[in-house]
Amino acid sequence: MENIRNFVIIAHIDSGKSTLADRLLEITGTVEARNMRPQYLDKMELERERGITIKMAPVRMRYENDKQEYILNLIDTPGHSDFSYEVSRALAAVEGAVLLVDGTKGIQAQTLSNLRAARRAGLKIIGAVNKIDLNLPQLPRIIKAVAELLEVPEEEIFKVSAKTCEGVKELLKAVIEKVPSPMVGESDGSALSLIFDSLYDDHKGILAFVRVFSGEFRNGEEVSLFASEAKFKIKELGFFIPEFKSAAKMSSGEIGYIATGLKEPALVKIGDTIAKEKNNTRPLTGYREPTQVVFISFYPDGATKFEELQRGLERLRLTDAALHFEPDANDALGRGFKVGFLGQLHFEITASRLRREFNLEFLTSFPSIAYRIFDRGKEMVIKQPQDFPDKPDKVWQPMIKLEILVPQAYLSSVVNLKNIFDFEIQEIKNMGDNLLIIARMPLAELIRDFDDKLKSVSSGYASFSYELDGEAEAEVERLEILIVHDVVAALTRIVARKDVEREGRATVERLKELLPKQQFSQALQARAEGRIIARETIPAMKKDVTGYLYGGDRSRKMKLWKKQQRGKEKLKGMARVELSPEVFREILKK
Ligand code: GDP
Ligand code: MG
Repeated sequence: MENIRNFVIIAHIDSGKSTLADRLLEITGTVEARNMRPQYLDKMELERERGITIKMAPVRMRYENDKQEYILNLIDTPGHSDFSYEVSRALAAVEGAVLLVDGTKGIQAQTLSNLRAARRAGLKIIGAVNKIDLNLPQLPRIIKAVAELLEVPEEEIFKVSAKTCEGVKELLKAVIEKVPSPMVGESDGSALSLIFDSLYDDHKGILAFVRVFSGEFRNGEEVSLFASEAKFKIKELGFFIPEFKSAAKMSSGEIGYIATGLKEPALVKIGDTIAKEKNNTRPLTGYREPTQVVFISFYPDGATKFEELQRGLERLRLTDAALHFEPDANDALGRGFKVGFLGQLHFEITASRLRREFNLEFLTSFPSIAYRIFDRGKEMVIKQPQDFPDKPDKVWQPMIKLEILVPQAYLSSVVNLKNIFDFEIQEIKNMGDNLLIIARMPLAELIRDFDDKLKSVSSGYASFSYELDGEAEAEVERLEILIVHDVVAALTRIVARKDVEREGRATVERLKELLPKQQFSQALQARAEGRIIARETIPAMKKDVTGYLYGGDRSRKMKLWKKQQRGKEKLKGMARVELSPEVFREILKK
């Protein structure tokens, strides 16, 4: 137990967390050199493609320091704010954190929010600045700023290069020396472990990723879950090396997995406690439920059935505890699910995973947020734009507190975003070479591509994080888009009253560019509170498809004409005009 160290690496996205984890895997000999590949712990195909960490990844390493053997449990975490729930759960399973700062960028938004979370979790925090292999004239100033932030002397901030390994051994030694070993929980024979993550396995059932807080667990033992009161016999347990490696037992302070044999996702809840001898013991403190802020409806499409979509979402929720969904029905699109997300990226990742890992086909609606409205003496929360009444008496919208970090040179471009986004700056502070802007903004602005716009006006240097900050009265209207006189339910959205005409016009103009011509002309209209506020027409396509066929091969021509006819029928059959996710994404952009 004294030889165990549990820690996380936390940082803003792209600071080099996963690369630092690679070096630790190498130094400790956990992964053989010939098997090493960059960002080793980013195992998901999507993570490798996008170059970001989505899931936290635990790994157990052994390391000899001063002739003592240590077990180091590291959890690599994602940096994007949409995945902050992953980070918070990892924090509850460890005693220490390496807070990594990108030496080319300095303190960024998630540096601050992760630091706050690590402090709340009571962790020992070790500061380090990464990428010192690059020429960094600003390094001394960054070190100073990080030291001030952590309230430690500058000498205590480590200078490392996760690329060349410079300084990484020293950092590892500091983890061993400074991070406390796990506390010994009271041992009255009971054993308790906290589920911080889970995964579905076809053979072993649901695998619970756990941190043992007291006692020990052994293979084959009878245990129970607090929340669902389910009982099961441990089918297998073991550690992450980083692949699953089975073991005979797992003791207090350790991090590993328990195969439950259970198949029903609802039985194994993240944040729940697995206990041996449940009598008289109380569950460990779980997690605060995350708050979903963006709602998007998913409707089965193509070969996918409603039940399959449901199963996919349930399975996915095992590895993504921040996902929330409930059944939903829509006149045009039928039965589906209203899914709540922590942000736009969270939605994109979820949709990709459902398509790839579960082979599901579905349509998605325009994203929306929840409004609280008061109408004809009744109060209700509206999560779907289609349900939004005409002219309600009063509407409140959720607000957020934004923290934007930006180099001085880009301050005015960021401030000028006020022309597009409705935010109010409350404070501007110095933070090393960067400025910290604190502002208040309606949450709704965030899903209008705030992230992309901020990045582009600051050449990628600005970063932001946010937290919910109460609500404010809102002047909004329901905007509907009609294609060939049919409301495209998925495009209905709630828009600020002052923007409704501009948005309506912009959307029909954009649709005119994006939608392919058909054999019939297509009227595109925007409607708000019953009145048409914008209109465009896509003219019918007229094209002689046989034009390029010389000579008189009549049968070939006939074949082509027939094919064209079939295509036409197919298109008419889709009078509701299917909009691809790409078209949605484009329409979202301002
Ligand atoms: P994460 O998002 O914090 O996990 O960051 P990654 O480990 O995925 O690294 C982000 C990018 O920074 C990748 O392109 C890495 O190759 C690069 N990187 C990481 N550490 C270093 C470093 O020490 N020096 C340099 N030059 N690049 C680094
Ligand atoms: Mg990473």
